[in-house]
Amino acid sequence: AQPLTDKRIRLYDAVIGKSILDRMEMEIALRAAINTDAIELFYQPKVAANTGRLCGFEALVRWKKDGAYVPPDHFIPIAEETGLIMPLGEQILKIAAAQVSDWISAHNLNIPVAVNMSALQLVSEKFAHFYKSTVKRYDIPADLLQLELTESATAEYIDDILPILNSLRDFGCMIALDDFGTGYSSLSYLKKMPISYLKLDRSFVEDLPDSDAMALARIISLLGHELGMELIAEGVEDEQTAQILEGMGYDQFQGYHYSKPLSPDEATAWISRAYR
Ligand code: C2E
Ligand code: CA
Ligand code: CA
Ligand code: CA
Repeated sequence: AQPLTDKRIRLYDAVIGKSILDRMEMEIALRAAINTDAIELFYQPKVAANTGRLCGFEALVRWKKDGAYVPPDHFIPIAEETGLIMPLGEQILKIAAAQVSDWISAHNLNIPVAVNMSALQLVSEKFAHFYKSTVKRYDIPADLLQLELTESATAEYIDDILPILNSLRDFGCMIALDDFGTGYSSLSYLKKMPISYLKLDRSFVEDLPDSDAMALARIISLLGHELGMELIAEGVEDEQTAQILEGMGYDQFQGYHYSKPLSPDEATAWISRAYR
């Protein structure tokens, strides 16, 4: 008989670098975690390039499993492959809406929170209904519950997604195109999409001030502004990078130079300092 290890080698998933057994264990545990407080959101500030003022937060999901946080890159792909992204995505949207509502009632402050969406969620008609009912149920302005979509995934499903995005935009939702520069959206698509923000992918920000990255960052800024969008740079880790990007006209910055993603309590403390 073959030794077990040989079989395990063939049961290895090259995509996420885990064995099939590990993945099954993750799927079962994730299924049990959804709709419990094991799913949390952390909040990373976005600040205005010229004034340093808080513009809003990006919500980043965290899964607390056996006392440690599993990074989203390790479980979002599993959630997408198993369909668990639907209930998980709805829970994430509810947590973010509750947080927006809480900051309004506790601090009388309107702080936008941007939630990351999987393209899979958007192709379902149900999603737009869920978004709208959540905004109504938590009684918050729609422009405070923003959505971030990755460019690559969005380009692939553009024909299905466009009418849904338009209906969300008409409802007042602000949409950001994430990881911009890594996908293949054509100019004509970009022009048609109801996008308020372009987020320059971190890989370009990381490579500044290399000349290729400089050229791309500059062209993306010109393009986005020409189309009436605001430009956000993520992964800003130092002042020199911030200054280069500010010179190129970037409107908002996000990254470790300003703050890491914060727990809800830390984020509330950050807001109190920002508005002191
Ligand atoms: P993303 O949307 O591009 O999020 C930015 C990632 O960069 C976050 O990683 C954030 O913690 C990290 N980051 C922020 N500032 C810096 C910096 O200055 N330097 C560096 N090196 N990294 C920085 P995180 O939280 O591990 O999230 C990874 C990805 O997982 C996200 O990439 C997003 O694609 C996905 N994700 C996160 N939350 C959700 C969610 O609620 N739903 C869905 N569908 N995907 C999510
Ligand atoms: Ca994002
Ligand atoms: Ca991004
Ligand atoms: Ca990313």
